[in-house]
Amino acid sequence: MSSLHSIRPWRQIDRRKSRQIMVGNVPVGGDAPITVQTMTNTDSSDVAATVAQVQACAEAGADIVRVSTPDESSTKALREVVKESPVPIVADIHFHYKRAIEAAEAGAACLRINPGNIGDATRVREVIKAAKDHGCSIRIGVNAGSLEKHLLDKYAEPCPEAMIESGMDHIRILQDNDFHEFKISCKASDVFLAAAAYQGLAEITDAPIHLGITEAGGLTSGTIKSAIGLGNLLWSGIGDTIRVSLSADPVEEVKVGYEILKSLGLRHRGVNIISCPSCARQGFDVIKTVEALEKRLEHIKTPMSLSIIGCVVNGPGEALMTDVGFTGGGAGSGMVYLAGKQSHKLSNDQMVEHIVEQVEKRASLIEAEMAAEAAE
Ligand code: SF4
Repeated sequence: MSSLHSIRPWRQIDRRKSRQIMVGNVPVGGDAPITVQTMTNTDSSDVAATVAQVQACAEAGADIVRVSTPDESSTKALREVVKESPVPIVADIHFHYKRAIEAAEAGAACLRINPGNIGDATRVREVIKAAKDHGCSIRIGVNAGSLEKHLLDKYAEPCPEAMIESGMDHIRILQDNDFHEFKISCKASDVFLAAAAYQGLAEITDAPIHLGITEAGGLTSGTIKSAIGLGNLLWSGIGDTIRVSLSADPVEEVKVGYEILKSLGLRHRGVNIISCPSCARQGFDVIKTVEALEKRLEHIKTPMSLSIIGCVVNGPGEALMTDVGFTGGGAGSGMVYLAGKQSHKLSNDQMVEHIVEQVEKRASLIEAEMAAEAAE
C-alpha cells in the first residue's frame, strides 16, 4: 500500500512517533503494524474453554488476547492458557497486586494494571520486579468510569484533563521505578471524551497507545461508535494497538477491529469486499451474493480486494481498482475482471462458486509475489 500512498498522498496517514515495546513476541508502537486485541469472556479458570476462545480469536486475526485474572484459580489456569495460546496473553488485573505477580510468573506477556491502584510503594515495587523478572510489559488502563476519587473531587466529573492526569500519575510511578516497557489507554464510552483524552495524552508521552472506546454497546451500535472514535484517532496518526469493545462474541471484536484498520489502509488481511448498497438497478441479488461470499471467503488471509457491483454504472470503474471484480447487468450474466482488466463473461447462477475460485487463485498468486519480494 505504500506505493498507493505515494501516488495518492491524500491517503497518507502520518503515525505519531511512539517508542516500541514488546508484548511477548509482538512489537507494539514505533513502526510496528497496529495490532488488534480482544478479551476472552469465558471463565478464566476453565482452561479448555479459554484456550478454545483464544484460538478462535487468533484465527480471526487477533494479535494479542487479554484474559481477566480476578482470583488465584484464574492465575493458576493462566499458565496452561499461555502454553496453549498462539498469541501473547495480557493478564487483566484490577486491584490485587498478588494476582499481578502470579500472572507474571504464569507467563503473561503483559499486565493490565494501574500501579496507582494496587497499594503502597512496596507492593508497586514487587509487581514491577515480577514484571521485569518475567519479561512482562504493562498496560496502564485509565478508564473514565473508574477515575481516582481525588481527581473526581478536583475536576468535578470525568473529563479529558482528569483522565490525562490519571494516566500521567501512573506513568510517573512506573518511571520512578525505572520501568519503561509500558503502553497506555484512556478509554471512555463517550467518543468525544475518549478522543480528547487520547489526543492530550498523545502530545505529552511517547508511550505506545492502546485505543478503545469502552462499553461501546452491541454489535451494530458499538461498531459504529468504535469506528467513529478509533477511526478519528487512527486517521490522525494516534494509536499503536486497538481493542473494539462490543457486547458480542470476542471474534466479532477482532473482525470489527480489522475492518476499521482496513478502511484506513493501516492493516490488510483477507478480502476487502466493495459492493453496492441496496439499489433497483442491480442485475443480480447483490446482498445475498455478498453474504454468501463473505462466508465462503473467510479462510482467505491474503490482503486483497473484490468488487461485487450490480451494474455498469460503477462496476467497471470499481473493478479497475480491485484484484477480482464482477459487474452485473447483462441478461442473467455479468463480466469478470481480473487484476483490473476485463476477463470473461459469467452467468449469474455460477457466480459464487466461480468468484470463490478466482479469489483463491488470485490469493495464491499474490502470496507467491509477496514471497518472491521478501526473498529479494
Ligand atoms: S453500481 Fe449500479 S447497481 Fe450498484 S449502486 Fe450503482 S447504480 Fe446501483
